[in-house]
Parts: sequence; structure tokens; C-alpha cells
Amino acid sequence: MEIVRRVETLQDAKKNVKGSIGFVPTMGALHAGHLALIRRAREENDYVIVSIFVNPTQFLEGEDLESYPRREEADSRICKLAGVDLIFMPTADQIYEEDELCIGAPARRGYILEGEKRPGHFDGMLQVVMKLLNLSAATRAYFGKKDAQQLALITQMARSYFLSCEIVPCDIVRDAHGLALSSRNAYLSDEEKQRALALSRSLKRASRKVMSGERSVDRIIPEMEQVLDAVDRIEYIAIVDRNFRPREIVEIGDTIILVAAWVGKTRLIDNIWI
Ligand code: AMP
Repeated sequence: MEIVRRVETLQDAKKNVKGSIGFVPTMGALHAGHLALIRRAREENDYVIVSIFVNPTQFLEGEDLESYPRREEADSRICKLAGVDLIFMPTADQIYEEDELCIGAPARRGYILEGEKRPGHFDGMLQVVMKLLNLSAATRAYFGKKDAQQLALITQMARSYFLSCEIVPCDIVRDAHGLALSSRNAYLSDEEKQRALALSRSLKRASRKVMSGERSVDRIIPEMEQVLDAVDRIEYIAIVDRNFRPREIVEIGDTIILVAAWVGKTRLIDNIWI
């Protein structure tokens, strides 16, 4: 397994690659959620690239850019065991130039929910993903449904910029209690972890309601709010279709229920696809 920090070295390494390239972009502090993406990339491709880059342009002023967990050694070991061929771990100066040309998130889909609470986040995310997809020359790139809005925007970018890379959505990986795995879970104390379970429980409650015949968003959301009593602050609960248009009536096969909430000083998101 090669560990590459420079763009030129990555370009050189790719010259010898034959066959398909599977690519998994991450910000590191790898967990079983990332690993599921990596395993799938390994199964479906001849060559696997993982990037580890805590991208400064997708963090807002006052967010956790400085404190975001960085675990290069452990991450490298995990990648090696998973059969990754190359890790790309650039510094920001390898990725960005002065006076950048930027692509922006679309007005509606990019500035609601996460995009409304974190204005500019998706612009930075799309900017780096575009660069990384081009650099990796990926045949397929793997993204988690955990970041559902991100996945929708990347899929749209690939479509509207005619990228040749296939965007592959991957299911959310949870711990034994249902908590969606996230690098940010490292910030949670044991007591906070318990309370954080309210996110997945509220989604489960919603999905049980739907399965028992309830379709009205107005009746599902209050049920979720009850379960979410355990968190410190709900940022949003939303029920949308796969294109992120708000729904009034749940339609099975075309609905995503999303929640964002604060537990202590940690902001968590989760969702369920129905
Ligand atoms: P991050 O390192 O948080 O930027 O995540 C890198 C990729 O891993 C993104 O496509 C995420 O959606 C995905 N991911 C993160 N957590 C999970 C999870 N629990 N299950 C599935 N995919 C995940």
C-alpha cells in the first residue's frame, strides 16, 4: 500500500493502474462506516484509493476544524488490512490555489437543512469532491447515505458536470445500539452517547409509524420530537423525497426522514430511507 501526500506522486502512481479504480473520500478517523465503503470498493474494483483530507473549505467559522480527530497511523493500518492500494493524504496547499475557481451548491437543494444550518458547507464539500474525483480518476466513488444531502448533491454534480465516475450510495452503518457511526462520536461522553441514541430511536419510531399505516408528516414529526426529548437541542426534523423536496405525505420508496440535533457540544445527524 502506498501513502501519497503530493498530487504529482498520485498522478504518477495512477499511470501504472490497469482496470477500474474505486475511490473512497474521507476525512479520516476511520470507523466501521468508512470500512464498509472501502470493502465495497475493494470488491467492485481492481484498484482502491482512499483519501484522507480534513477539508478546510467545508468547515464554517467556529466549527471543529482544529479539533477534528486526526489518526493517521491507525487509519493507515485499517486501510492496509482492508486491502487499499493507495492512501492519498494531501496537505491543503496541494489541493488549493489562491483565488480559487469555485463551483457552488445549487440554490434550493444546497441551502436547506444542512445547507441552511451550515451555509457554505456544501460549496466547500462539492469543491473538494470535484477535485478528488478528478485526481483519483475514479471509475466508481463510494459515499454513505449517512450524509444523505451530501450524497444527493454529489450525484447531481456528477450528472450535471457529465463526470464519468459512477456515484455509489452505501447504507448507514450503526453500532449495536443503533447509533450511526461518525468520527464525531469520539467527542461524546458515555452519558451523551446514551442520549445520542434518541436520534436513531426517533427515526425508528417514525418508520414503525409508517409501517403501521401512518402517512401524515404532521403526525409523524411530533412522535419523533417526543423521543428527541433526550437531546439538548433539535436543529431540524425533515421529511423529504429523494430530491429533497419537502413531503406532506410519506410515500414508501421515495422518502427520507432526517434529523440533526445537538448532544452537549456535538452536532449529530442521522436519517432513514423509506
Ligand atoms: P467523513 O469522513 O465523515 O467525511 O465520511 C466519509 C464518507 O463515509 C462519507 O461518504 C460518509 O457518508 C461515509 N460515512 C460516514 N459515516 C458513515 C456510516 N455510519 N455509515 C455509512 N457511511 C458513512
